[in-house]
Amino acid sequence: MRKLGRIIRDISELMNNLCQVDIYLNDDNEENYKNMVRLIANGTNFVVYKAEGRYHFAPSRFVGYLNNDLLTHLVKNNGKHGWYTSPAIDSIIGHTRTFNQALENEYLRFCDRLGITPKHMVDTQRKYWLLDNKQNNIYAEEYYEGSLQQALVNRYERNPIARKKCIEKYGCICQVCGMDFGKVYGELGNGFIHVHHIVPISAQKGEVHKIDPENSLVPVCPNCHAMLHKGKLSIEELRKILGK
Ligand SMILES: [Zn+2]
Ligand SMILES: [Zn+2]
Repeated sequence: MRKLGRIIRDISELMNNLCQVDIYLNDDNEENYKNMVRLIANGTNFVVYKAEGRYHFAPSRFVGYLNNDLLTHLVKNNGKHGWYTSPAIDSIIGHTRTFNQALENEYLRFCDRLGITPKHMVDTQRKYWLLDNKQNNIYAEEYYEGSLQQALVNRYERNPIARKKCIEKYGCICQVCGMDFGKVYGELGNGFIHVHHIVPISAQKGEVHKIDPENSLVPVCPNCHAMLHKGKLSIEELRKILGK
């Protein structure tokens, strides 16, 4: 069983978790998306920040544990509790959570956008920690953009239609090292290849849906693919390293 991380201690640990929430909300894995929106619908305390002109709400009990993920978080009776996470977030953000009617309205709008019904509050109110401008800018620029960009890239690389078009153009041959799984493994390897996205999403802001599969995706073997991501390299740069 995966163990819950320790309570977070600083703003970067918090921001890593905010990122994780945003990634789940943009995940094409339906299970992840559903579980995350359910936590948001049932939450009572939220870390609030603005990204792309909109408010986002991250449930404190999820973001309060180091490097949290849904697989770990959703284990029953694993010791998670708002009693522990709230004071930690108070001290990281620099003020305590409070009810705020304007943020409550924004929260309801956020739920609306996600298509969820927020928990009905009976004797208590939802409370919010709003990141200050400086914290918010750091999150938006250094965390949100990068992680979401990566999530979108991953999604394009797995998109079956884009993948098909890319393979029609290049064949199932690694464009870095020339590996052809069909040649090496015979029948078993036929049609096996990864697809890598070469145009940075940030270069096409505002039209991320208009991806051009024939020019932005290339087939690569899993080894070369891993190295491309690890070194943040272009196809040409990796070819050079391999002496191709
Ligand atoms: Zn390769
Ligand atoms: Zn890739």
